Amino acid sequence: MLAGLPTSDHGRLITDPRSGRTYFKGRLLGKGGFARCYEATDTETGSAYAVKVIPQSRVAKPHQREKIRNEIELHRDLQHRHIVRFSHHFEDADNIYIFLELCSRKSLAHIWKARHTLLEPEVRYYLRQILSGLKYLHQRGILHRDLKLGNFFITENMELKVGDFGLAARLEPPEQRKKTICGTPNYVAPEVLLRQGHGPEADVWSLGCVMYTLLCGSPPFETADLKETYRCIKQVHYTLPASLSLPARQLLAAILRASPRDRPSIDQILRHDFFTKGYTPDRLPISSCVTVPDLTPPNPARSLFAKVTKSLFGRKKNKSKNHAQERDEVSCLVSGLMRTSVGHQDARPEAPAASGPAPVSLVETAPEDSSPRGTLASSGDGFEEGLTVATVVESALCALRNCVAFMPPAEQNPAPLAQPEPLVWVSKWVDYSNKFGFGYQLSSRRVAVLFNDGTHMALSANRKTVHYNPTSTKHFSFSVGAVPRALQPQLSILRYFTSYMEQHLMKGGDLPSVEEVEVPAPPLLLQWVKTDQALLMLFSDGTVQVNFYGDHTKLILSGWEPLLVTFVARNRSACTYLASHLRQLGCSPDLRQRLRYALRLLRDRSPA
Ligand code: ADP
Repeated sequence: MLAGLPTSDHGRLITDPRSGRTYFKGRLLGKGGFARCYEATDTETGSAYAVKVIPQSRVAKPHQREKIRNEIELHRDLQHRHIVRFSHHFEDADNIYIFLELCSRKSLAHIWKARHTLLEPEVRYYLRQILSGLKYLHQRGILHRDLKLGNFFITENMELKVGDFGLAARLEPPEQRKKTICGTPNYVAPEVLLRQGHGPEADVWSLGCVMYTLLCGSPPFETADLKETYRCIKQVHYTLPASLSLPARQLLAAILRASPRDRPSIDQILRHDFFTKGYTPDRLPISSCVTVPDLTPPNPARSLFAKVTKSLFGRKKNKSKNHAQERDEVSCLVSGLMRTSVGHQDARPEAPAASGPAPVSLVETAPEDSSPRGTLASSGDGFEEGLTVATVVESALCALRNCVAFMPPAEQNPAPLAQPEPLVWVSKWVDYSNKFGFGYQLSSRRVAVLFNDGTHMALSANRKTVHYNPTSTKHFSFSVGAVPRALQPQLSILRYFTSYMEQHLMKGGDLPSVEEVEVPAPPLLLQWVKTDQALLMLFSDGTVQVNFYGDHTKLILSGWEPLLVTFVARNRSACTYLASHLRQLGCSPDLRQRLRYALRLLRDRSPA
């Protein structure tokens, strides 16, 4: 195999000086405190590994070397389904190499970055595996001491493995424990901060912080200032959002106790209602790395749902029933089912308080155009054809890569299209995901909320029709006065978002508005992602919008055949270009920089 490698790749070979075995160093998986981690393939057997490469220069000091030796000593003997498998290690003059089980889907930190919050069934799925691995460690007298999202690795088939034993230690009796503060500041237990040492209960505390972060979107004690975080930890000062289920709140409250003695053991956690009464999927779809999965627990109400919707929607060919009659039937069905299945819809938000706190992360602040618009010809009930997040990401990636990679240098943008088709784009948004979800208004004046549990509700431009999508492929519509009782909490939140956006936010650019009647099936927001610089939104019709916070510029990719690129500049004026023109003629550095950034954002979302 080695002979077949191009000479330029010889520098990418790692050779074990003792055995003579060679490995091909592949893509970079990540960087840590000491190490860079790469994919590695045994050139003889083709076995794949993750190899941690630690430069000798980084471990020149005795205490640094001791840390690596400790990590190897503790990790090498561990064998458990939910612990990253240690394969072997060796060193040469330049580096130390540690060969580990390859976890190709990176870590829970990456999933969390793309998703903000996970559904309770997903959290149970991951936590059960963490608890299983952690129980094994504790039984062998090993404390992990750095349980955090980035140390829960995910394999190709979505299994979780606890990894990174850089801070792990053998359990000592309390009086002999080292009193050093270690671990990730946000997840460190109060007794560790008070220098009382690290016992198994401190790992349980960190696990509680992990559970909180996955369910609520941010760590329980996170503040802008480390001292303040430590004060909150010592005083166990945090809030439990009402949107969590009661068992989730109870379990978190039981784990996040100041005294280690008061915290539940791993077995007690596993016996808690949160685990025993809630549904845990056997496996998660790969798409759940980047988007809310449709987790349908096997329960009779759901089977009934499937059966009845099938018979109802089979009617597309059967024109004998009138439309209103059918809508009534669906509305009864949904209302009945929601009542029976609401206990399974774990992360369903509760109704907002009469006057909720002001939403966070608001953009755009001038008066808006709010003239009433035409009415929507209701599409009635039925299944909508829509793209998945993965498809939107992949097709946008492909088109954008193609465009950016070949663009010649230029100083200016080419001539924009003289009369582009009116676009449907997000003209206002509000991130209120710490409580309910993400609200947005389309240029057609439709408002909608993508709730934290992945359900979606929209109010038509004339405010007369409510569209409800329990998943991105299921769609029900009701007239505003006939929304089933079980959906009223979502409707109140939607109204709250609507009035907030109407009163406080201005439209994000001077693009022509679209009458909603022209858009019989408006796109559905499938996913949104915020980075420190921009907000990325992905829609069911393939549209991708990126809003840059700093200067309020925006990029909208739409159309696909041909692909259109709309750029809303700092002065809010919008120009639409054919992507093929940009590819041939190049564009201004301003636009190029934003196209590159959008490409990076999409690449990060790509599950491939
Ligand atoms: P350090 O101990 O120096 O902090 P880490 O163990 O955190 O190094 O590894 C650095 C990065 O390498 C991790 O954040 C992760 O992205 C990646 N990584 C580590 N182990 C694996 C693995 N087994 N499979 C895939 N990626 C891994």
